[in-house]
Amino acid sequence: MKETIYTIPVNDAYNSECECPLCVLRKKAEDNEIEYYLGPSLMEPDTRIITNKTGFCPDHMAKLNKQVTNRLGLALVMHTHLLDYDKDITEDLSNAAPAKAGLLKGRSNDYKAACRSLADRIDARTATCPVCEKMNKTIERYNEVIMHMFSHDAAFKEKFMSTKSHCLPHTASLLRTAANKLSQNDAADFISALAQSNKNCFAELEHDVEWFTQKFDYRNKEASWGNSKNAIQRSMRFLSSDTGEFNEG
Ligand SMILES: [Zn+2]
Ligand SMILES: [Zn+2]
Repeated sequence: MKETIYTIPVNDAYNSECECPLCVLRKKAEDNEIEYYLGPSLMEPDTRIITNKTGFCPDHMAKLNKQVTNRLGLALVMHTHLLDYDKDITEDLSNAAPAKAGLLKGRSNDYKAACRSLADRIDARTATCPVCEKMNKTIERYNEVIMHMFSHDAAFKEKFMSTKSHCLPHTASLLRTAANKLSQNDAADFISALAQSNKNCFAELEHDVEWFTQKFDYRNKEASWGNSKNAIQRSMRFLSSDTGEFNEG
């Protein structure tokens, strides 16, 4: 496969000590996008047309805010996004308030539909995010590359077969892509490996979290924590993928 731009990072991620190689790839893609949106792209009219409309999702607003490298750029983006949002909804929000029902004017339910549709519009704008969009596309591409490598690169296949774990959201994306891209024979090996590592993961986490709870029993006070100290965070990363929010300590 000539596309080393994708195969090298995939190999690196599967060679690294981690709980989910796709979480590693996701984090890299996310860092690249955050850097892009805080970099010179801020001054490019084409990018600004997009971010004026979309802003960023709550998660990426928080991540942009943590990057203190380009406060002016971030403020400029916020300013034109506020102007765009204001123009889009403020008037409709004022108009959404119904007239009070009086003696002459009867009750009407018309305003309810307007309120709901405006609420949907605000929710949709809050959720839209160019960082998420680009990151998801990159991860989709990585999923496809993983399938290609699995069926064409014996060394990678072997590596995949012995991968310790994938988080559940990425297990779902791998399953979906396997269903679309792999032959039945490749799918047999791929899904068996995925199932086995998931089974091991559940067993290990269930054991470690249970021991964490039992450590609160005074009779176990002196017993070793074993592998349980970070069992809550490891479980959260397994259940919801590693967003960098579940770090220990
Ligand atoms: Zn993951
Ligand atoms: Zn986002």
